[in-house]
Amino acid sequence: MRIGYGWDSHEFKSGIPLKIGGVTIAHPKGLAGHSDGDVLLHALTDALLGAIAAGDIGTYFPPSDARWKGADSAVFLRTALEHVERAGYAVANVDSTLILAEPRIGPHAALIQRRVAELLSIEPASVGVKAKTPEGMGTDNAAIAHVVVLLTKKAGKRRRQAEALEAVPQPVVDSVAESLVESAVASKWKKT
Ligand code: MG
Repeated sequence: MRIGYGWDSHEFKSGIPLKIGGVTIAHPKGLAGHSDGDVLLHALTDALLGAIAAGDIGTYFPPSDARWKGADSAVFLRTALEHVERAGYAVANVDSTLILAEPRIGPHAALIQRRVAELLSIEPASVGVKAKTPEGMGTDNAAIAHVVVLLTKKAGKRRRQAEALEAVPQPVVDSVAESLVESAVASKWKKT
């Protein structure tokens, strides 16, 4: 098992779409950034990469690279997920907390949960989406996201073979072993 943690923040700016967790939310301000500014998907991408100690979002998608200008952050998440799978892990569950003064996330939380689950190919019940307002923090013009992920090791080839063998009824295994012994004995007598 591996645990991963990610954090991100973006500043609100008038006149751009607001995207959180892959969902576009109707609001007069959006989150400024080189990409689509999806603070939750960025924190999730970092959490996945962190869990397998494979750098961070900037390692693969540097803001200096013009290719990622206005990019859909789902692309970043998919790349991190590919690294996780190549490392032999699968996502068990995700938990997240958003901190923003507005808009209220409650009415959108179920949709964000479903979208994030879909992007990770896991059940919505394995994605926690929580939101708080930044009381006393003075960050009313920013959206902040904290994400933790848990990864489990995928079953390897040897483990799958052992499990397949265990699944075969014992009398079958015994009779196969018996016939092998018999043929070995028979061939030995033939030779001598
Ligand atoms: Mg970011």
